[in-house]
Amino acid sequence: MNDKENPRSPKPLLETMTWPEARRAAQDGGRVVLLPVGAIEQHGPHLPVDVDNRIVTWLCAEAARRRPDLILSVPPIHYGFNEHNMGFPGTVTVAVENFVNYVFDVCHSFVRQGHTRIVLINGHGSNAMPCALVARRLVNQTDDALAAAINHWSLARDAAAAARDTPIGGMAHACEYETSWYLFLQPDLVDMEKAVPDMLKSRSSFIWVDLMAGDGPVALIDDWSRVSNGSGVEGDPLTASAEKGARYAEVEVTNLIRFCEEFKAMPLLPRRNYTARGQDANPYYAD
Ligand SMILES: [Zn+2]
Repeated sequence: MNDKENPRSPKPLLETMTWPEARRAAQDGGRVVLLPVGAIEQHGPHLPVDVDNRIVTWLCAEAARRRPDLILSVPPIHYGFNEHNMGFPGTVTVAVENFVNYVFDVCHSFVRQGHTRIVLINGHGSNAMPCALVARRLVNQTDDALAAAINHWSLARDAAAAARDTPIGGMAHACEYETSWYLFLQPDLVDMEKAVPDMLKSRSSFIWVDLMAGDGPVALIDDWSRVSNGSGVEGDPLTASAEKGARYAEVEVTNLIRFCEEFKAMPLLPRRNYTARGQDANPYYAD
């Protein structure tokens, strides 16, 4: 062993490892791999376009720093599925089928290297469905790996419900929640003088988007330039604070580590074939 890694406190981040260290991290089923998946997208006049990336990259790295024995944080997917925001400057989009294939290939690489537990930590609403699909495809197309997808805000649902000052239907984008996170992570890049509330008018009593309370029963994501009043905000960033951000961050890291412990311990049983082509025994064959 001629690299400098201390086997008792292994490195938390893949990008800082040599290949012998990366090999060691993937041995015996590997650690739980956390892949941050973000977006480059307008976040109102007061926040930088990297909000979704910055939050999930920090979250994964922090969880791995606290539990490097259990978790490996890997470099993020920077660009996401963003067609609905292309009317605003600073937004980059990847077509959904390209996104799914690309993210799948990245995740599949970790499985091919030896890891058997993969978690996509998503920071961008429109990536949620494609990330869930990638996780499903990994489960379906590998023999010994399990993959899961988490929208990071879901990990703070209870804490945010208790702390929120915006009404339900008003916590969606560049809002109280996301602005609080950024004020916690990098306050010098937030221009609160430019922050404006934009509580979009409801177009139907069946349609709303809320990160914390869940979305309405009807899914309809229109082009943002049609529904926004021009700010690109959906919610009220004036209710944000660094203290709320710190609270979200702590509860999300704690819940993420707890899930990783359960996920690593989750047994993986063999697939069985009960069809007429299969050989596996089943007590319900009788009759
Ligand atoms: Zn965002």
